[in-house]
Amino acid sequence: MEIFSLRFLGILLLAIVILRFMARRKKKGPSIVRAKQIPIRGQKLTTPIAPDTPLDCLLDEGKIFGEDFKDKSLPELPHGENCQCELTGVIRQSHDWFNNPPEKDEKITTDLGRLERNEYRYYKYMLIAHHQDSEDADRQTYVDLAENVSVAEDFKERVANKLSVINKEISSSM
Ligand SMILES: [Zn+2]
Repeated sequence: MEIFSLRFLGILLLAIVILRFMARRKKKGPSIVRAKQIPIRGQKLTTPIAPDTPLDCLLDEGKIFGEDFKDKSLPELPHGENCQCELTGVIRQSHDWFNNPPEKDEKITTDLGRLERNEYRYYKYMLIAHHQDSEDADRQTYVDLAENVSVAEDFKERVANKLSVINKEISSSM
């Protein structure tokens, strides 16, 4: 009886060892897949979207700087007088970035209020196009870019009103 129970105990122990080994092998599967998701790190530049924001700041606004991005090295901040640019770290899994692009639905705060992404893009392009420091050659490029963004007519009017106020201020200060 004693021999039987010892043998039984031995078999039981062996079974536990085998089961544990198998469980561990199973676990390895998904962890290999997870390792493929490389974290993407960068520094995102944000600045107020408003007519008095310096041109260099507007041009860099929304860019992400880092090894994995087109702009590898960080810009030298401040850009100049009145620069209010800030860099914030962003970390995403490559997998997330593909399936769920960052900030797709995020609203962006500007001096025109919280805007949808397309409105924000339109407004930013128009601000650059009408900026007092923009080169004439760039103005048309940015007007074209703005015209490619689909926004409601009344929003275009709001932007046009805003810009006409600025243009008046610029011409009266000259
Ligand atoms: Zn700046």
